[in-house]
Amino acid sequence: MTRPDGRPNDQLRPISFIPNVAPYATGSVLVSFGDTRVICSATIEDDVPRWMRAQRVEGGWLTAEYSMLPYSTLERKPRDISRGKLDGRSSEIQRLIGRALRACVDLKKVGQRTIWIDCDVLQADGGTRTASITGGCVAMAIAFNQLMAAGKLKQFPLKKLVAAVSAGVYQGVPILDLNYPEDRDAAVDFNVVMTEASEFVEIQGSGEEAVFSSEEMTAMLELSRKGISDIISLQKAAILTADRAAPADLASLAAAFRK
Ligand code: UDP
Repeated sequence: MTRPDGRPNDQLRPISFIPNVAPYATGSVLVSFGDTRVICSATIEDDVPRWMRAQRVEGGWLTAEYSMLPYSTLERKPRDISRGKLDGRSSEIQRLIGRALRACVDLKKVGQRTIWIDCDVLQADGGTRTASITGGCVAMAIAFNQLMAAGKLKQFPLKKLVAAVSAGVYQGVPILDLNYPEDRDAAVDFNVVMTEASEFVEIQGSGEEAVFSSEEMTAMLELSRKGISDIISLQKAAILTADRAAPADLASLAAAFRK
């Protein structure tokens, strides 16, 4: 079996993070998994949802929004707003992003604030939800660093980094980090979210009109565990460099797109 882009079964696509692409957000990053690129931002609002105030819930809240830009797909995808409703897939994905990121944040340490994570897909080539979780975590860590530096937070609220990757069974073989042609033809599709301590946060897995064995599932989870551990090292490096990075200039963005 040869993968469409010739990668070994356990190899991630080239992954990169360009921090501070949206300087008015508290934290932002452009994350790329191969040709999948997502702009992730974290914006902090000094208020909590009404239900939290009414129920006197301590601490803050985190919520996520996900959308594919109309030009992120080969065929133009109309904005949800022009169709008058959020599509089911986007709604499912943004709830997944919110759950994944809340799992690694101590909301009590956030104080009476809401963290908005916005994930906008610039280019879709498979794995946009896993790239969104991975980039969302980086944007959030950058935002928390900003708030710490400004003296607005006493303690760092991020408990652990969280990242996600896809795995699947393609032509009978378990593979890591599917691009669109692989995603389209895979018999089984898994999205795995884990912390830096290799704990599972969420697993979404389905045999799309197919079935899978326990051995195949174990193989996909093991591929994902190794992939996520590599992704987390890259996240750490991106968060460290973000503090020193100026808002991304057009030349560095252009260089990243040429990679
Ligand atoms: N896709 C698309 N248009 C859509 C939905 C999906 O072109 O309206 C493509 C896109 O490349 C996406 C891939 O199909 O990355 C796989 O979609 P899926 O719903 O499995 O989510 P993802 O893998 O992006 O998390």
